[in-house]
Amino acid sequence: MRESRRQQFAESPDVLLGAFDQRTRVPVRDFFLGGDEFITIAGPCSVETEGQIMATAHHVRRGGARMLRGGAFKPRSSPYAFQGLGLAGLKLLAHAREATGLAVVTEVMSETDVALVAEYSDVLQIGSRNMENYALLEAAARSGRPILLKRGMVATLADFLHSAQVVLDYGNPWVILCERGIRTFETAMRNTFDAAGIALLKQVTHLPVIADPSHAAGHRALVPALARIGVAAGADGLIVEVHPDPDTAWSDGEQSLDFAEFDAMMADLEPWIAARAREPRGLRTTDKQVLEAVTG
Ligand code: PEP
Ligand code: MN
Repeated sequence: MRESRRQQFAESPDVLLGAFDQRTRVPVRDFFLGGDEFITIAGPCSVETEGQIMATAHHVRRGGARMLRGGAFKPRSSPYAFQGLGLAGLKLLAHAREATGLAVVTEVMSETDVALVAEYSDVLQIGSRNMENYALLEAAARSGRPILLKRGMVATLADFLHSAQVVLDYGNPWVILCERGIRTFETAMRNTFDAAGIALLKQVTHLPVIADPSHAAGHRALVPALARIGVAAGADGLIVEVHPDPDTAWSDGEQSLDFAEFDAMMADLEPWIAARAREPRGLRTTDKQVLEAVTG
C-alpha cells in the first residue's frame, strides 16, 4: 500500500496541477483564498489581552484585511517564553471575529486540541515546527477546516508538498501553502524568504500560496519589501504580524508592524496587487525535470 502510494505520488501526485486542471479556491467564511481576490491576513503573533486583539482586529479590518491571525497555542523557540493563552485566547479570537466579521486563523499544535481550535477558528494553522507532524496533519485534515500549512524552516519544496498531500489524502482538499522563510547560512534576517519558491509552487500546484514576510524578515523594517516581493512572485495572499504597540508585544514584537506601518504597507501594495490582477498568474509548467524535482 505504502509502496503503491509512494509510486503514485512520484508519478502523479494530487498536489500537482496535472491531477486537477482547476486551481483550488479555498472557501473561508465569505470569501475564497486562491481566487481573484488578494487576501490579507493580519494580527498579532500572540493573542495577549482583549484590548490588544480587539483594537488590532478593528484596525486591520479597516485597512482591508479579510482574516485575523493570532496565536493562542504558541510554539516558542524557548520553553521559558510565553506559550499562549490557550482557550482564553481562542475565546478572544472568536469575540473579535463576531465584532468585525473577520475570519480567524490560529495555530493548533497538538492532535488533542484540534476539535477545540476548530470550534473557535475558521482556518487551522499548522506551524513551521509541525509541518512534518503527520499525526497532527491527519487530525487537522479530518476536522474538515481549511489548513494553513506553513513551510518547515528546513523543508524543501518537495517536503512541503508531501505534507500538503497528507492533508489531501485524509480527504481535506482545503490546503493553503505558506512560505515563511527557510534557514540558510545567512543570518542577517531571521530566515531567508524563498520568493522563488512561491513562484515555482504557483507553477506546479493548484493550491493557493501565501507569503509570510514577518517570520521571514525578523525585522519590521524589512516586512513591507518582502510583502511586495511576495505579491510580485504570484502569492494569493499575505499573513503579516501587526500589534498596537510592538515594543511591548509578548512575542515577535521586533517583526510586528504597528498600525501606521500596516497602513503604509497596504497603501504601498495597492499598485502591486492591481498589477497582479491584470496578469496571468502562475503559468503552469509541464517541464518534466521541474516536476520531478518537486516531487522529490
Ligand atoms: C507564527 O505564525 O506566529 C509562527 C509561530 O510561525 P512559524 O510556524 O512560521 O514559525
Ligand atoms: Mn510569530
